[in-house]
Amino acid sequence: MKKRILTTGGAGYIGSHTTVELLKAGYSVVILDNFENSDRDRVARLPLIAGTADVRLVEGDVRDAQLVADVLKHHKIDAVMHFAGKKAVSESVADPLLYYHDNITGAVSVLSAMRDIGCNKLIFSSSATVYGNTNHLPTPETVPPSVSNPYGRTKLIIEEIIDDTAASLSNFQALSLRYFNPVGAHSSGFIGECPRGVPNNLFPYIAQAAAGIRDYVQIHGGDYETSDGTGSRDYIHVVDLARGHVAAVEHLLSASTNPTPHRKVNLGTGQGHTVLQVLQAFSKACGFQIPYRIGPRRAGDVAASLADPSLGLALFHWKPMLGLEQMCQDHWHFQKRERNKPGSGVRMPLCAHETASNHLVSNETHPLTAGSRDVPN
Ligand code: NAD
Ligand code: UDP
Repeated sequence: MKKRILTTGGAGYIGSHTTVELLKAGYSVVILDNFENSDRDRVARLPLIAGTADVRLVEGDVRDAQLVADVLKHHKIDAVMHFAGKKAVSESVADPLLYYHDNITGAVSVLSAMRDIGCNKLIFSSSATVYGNTNHLPTPETVPPSVSNPYGRTKLIIEEIIDDTAASLSNFQALSLRYFNPVGAHSSGFIGECPRGVPNNLFPYIAQAAAGIRDYVQIHGGDYETSDGTGSRDYIHVVDLARGHVAAVEHLLSASTNPTPHRKVNLGTGQGHTVLQVLQAFSKACGFQIPYRIGPRRAGDVAASLADPSLGLALFHWKPMLGLEQMCQDHWHFQKRERNKPGSGVRMPLCAHETASNHLVSNETHPLTAGSRDVPN
């Protein structure tokens, strides 16, 4: 019997790639998403990429605990991957209460629905941002967290809520996966990251500069104590990250004993790359030099971030395989497929509205069911 996974936020950047890898690994998937930062078109592409249609869509809000419980019960969910939430650091600094409300309410809702229905395997999208400005590089999970913004604090608080919940329930098992810097896109070019407005993150910004949407890349600081003075990060291909989730859920579903009900595990490569190295690799992928300027440091940035990925390897035998070259090639391939939004003053990626009619599957003819609730009353 196939195991069935609920991916909250499964229409988003990481959730969609993970849904594809879950389908390819033989899982059945139910996506719960309210599309506040994604779109149905992306979901419609998933069966085509994965080569199986064993995926259902429930459109709704993860903060609605009754809805989550109905979905868990109706679809007989074996494990939950909780991706849904807000993720912009600068927005969280400007409106911390929005982040505390949405991210924490969402997690509490998922946990209480799981408790009520007796679904006891959870994977939570945490972040390396919980390590803050640590000097301990590469960083193992044992380094004490030190968050520096409200977004990061929501991740840490949710990890602690999961600690408490797991301790209060017998047989509850959770993994909080602390992502380093997910980048790239599926090699098909059908799914990738579509930031709304001006991107904050390096890869989407470089991709837009390469596409001529931005004039040049502004490098935030050239005087860090790194090999070339620019900031260094542990970039991880989103497909490797997605496969990490599959390995993690396999570990959870196969574990019969429960020595540690909630573990925090880094998902990174253990390889760091500076901004200039990324620019060089991306320029190679697109075949021309992407223009850049070196400017002042960005407030709140750390010089370097680097995972110690050994726990993931030891626990669930996961090892990232795709290097910087592949990350750049796939990101660029995805960017090239995007179009300019007609009638908009701002040139933005258009994966939400790309017609791709021959790639889309209508809801009438496809087992994907779209509606505010696809569970019986
Ligand atoms: P994303 O915004 O692309 O995806 C999140 C998805 O959740 C979207 O489809 C959105 O519509 C949905 N969503 C948001 N709030 C919802 C709600 N209340 N109910 C239902 N659906 C809702 O983000 P992503 O990059 O795929 O990130 C996924 C998770 O990973 C997030 O929790 C994020 O904080 C975490 N994370 C991301 C990164 C990164 O660099 N992308 C790094 C570390 C951690
Ligand atoms: N960066 C940059 N220009 C940009 C965006 C980012 O120089 O337009 C740098 C940033 O200072 C950091 C690295 O690229 O050193 C990665 O930044 P990103 O925002 O992608 O990830 P984070 O800093 O959140 O880890």
